[in-house]
Amino acid sequence: MPQSPDPRGPDEPCVLLKLGEIVLKGRNRQQFERILQGNIRAAVRETGVPVELRQREGVILLRVADGEQRGEPGWAQAAGQIAERVRDVPGIIRVCQPLRVAKTPEAVTAAAVALTKGRTGTFAIRARRRDKRFGLTSAQLNVLVGREIVEVHGLGVNLSRPDTEVFIEVDQHEVFVFTEGVDAVGGLPVGMSGRGVALMSGGIDSPVAAYRMMRRGLRCFFLHFSGMPLTGPESIYKAYALVRGLDRYQGGSRLFVVPFGKAQQALASSGADRLLIVAQRRLMLKTGAALARRLSATALITGDSLGQVASQTLANITALDDATKLPILRPLIGWDKSEIMAEARRIHTLAISELPDQDCCTLLTPRRVETRARLDDLRRIEGRLDVEDLADTLAANAQEYRQENPKNLYSERAVVPAPGPRSVPPGPRPVPPARAPHPAV
Ligand code: ATP
Ligand code: MG
Repeated sequence: MPQSPDPRGPDEPCVLLKLGEIVLKGRNRQQFERILQGNIRAAVRETGVPVELRQREGVILLRVADGEQRGEPGWAQAAGQIAERVRDVPGIIRVCQPLRVAKTPEAVTAAAVALTKGRTGTFAIRARRRDKRFGLTSAQLNVLVGREIVEVHGLGVNLSRPDTEVFIEVDQHEVFVFTEGVDAVGGLPVGMSGRGVALMSGGIDSPVAAYRMMRRGLRCFFLHFSGMPLTGPESIYKAYALVRGLDRYQGGSRLFVVPFGKAQQALASSGADRLLIVAQRRLMLKTGAALARRLSATALITGDSLGQVASQTLANITALDDATKLPILRPLIGWDKSEIMAEARRIHTLAISELPDQDCCTLLTPRRVETRARLDDLRRIEGRLDVEDLADTLAANAQEYRQENPKNLYSERAVVPAPGPRSVPPGPRPVPPARAPHPAV
């Protein structure tokens, strides 16, 4: 790729991304940077703004490719659109909107003066150099630019608690000058940690769990069990709307839906009784594992939180772990409900999760739920049904609901889908066949 030309003058609005933990990585860092760059490009594509991406030392620069044609303020607006979108791309910790200027003290000073126009109170200059060959040291830049701002705008200097901070970052090809930035989602680039299948109930916890794992670099496929044909399809609409909202953090999300009602009935009539909830959850996990094999995913994710409901006692969680050899990731295991709800609000899933629906787990609920499930009892019940085959069949018959129009996906982040035809997800597709035969889990 050609190097970006040196900036023309002190007026190019651009976007500068500060990277999170990825900068601490050693030999694999470049590979992770490439994953992040791909994710950023995909996210930015949704804005319709053509962008030129450049990897710099520990930062990524995004330039508006057709900025000059847009003129002011169109150029700055386009940069603002990009900045807003990339805040939700995991792997980025901070998003700044600097002016990109030529590597001369005059250009830097002019940009800093322009950016502080109209400000009142005190200020501080925070200069740093990623290119140490620059003619002035950081301290010299601080003094030079600071003096000019005092002279032109009459602002006071306060180095410890200024009203305005002016950041100057000297890079290899250019200098960036900006006054503030916003925190981004943080974490690691999605895809860096592999793939997992997230069990999505339509409740409050599971979307938060999936989000937390995406933030740790795991690409999530989503699996929802509906009570159909014993219930209506409402829970599917909720799962679909949740996936649609979460897609903002990873892109290309896929939701698989398994009609679970008949399998639940079969478990109930094989004498599960007080163990029904745990037996159902084990069958869900086995089905998740079968789907994971088909999708080359190597982990399952659930929204379990220790002790929150009867199926989440330590004994029952141990019984759930036994259902599959795949690791079951439970990022919320130590979270309080109030903490989970606050996070759900922050990531815009809470309003959807709180919509009423008939969750399949509430079907056929026994009057008393076993809190200390024993494995031999569970295995006896499962033996009557041949659950491994049943799980394979359920996974093979899972229906996929894909995002048909990715451009529209993010526009309704906090909007709850209205009941009726608009909220009906695009049609199901068959699940891909398993790549290779696998031993039963
Ligand atoms: P949530 O708010 O996520 O529904 P919960 O507190 O209601 O969680 P449970 O109903 O016991 O807890 O479910 C625990 C986990 O099991 C969920 O977080 C989810 O990962 C999985 N799960 C439960 N029901 C379903 C379902 N119908 N489809 C897919 N996964 C499910
Ligand atoms: Mg639930």
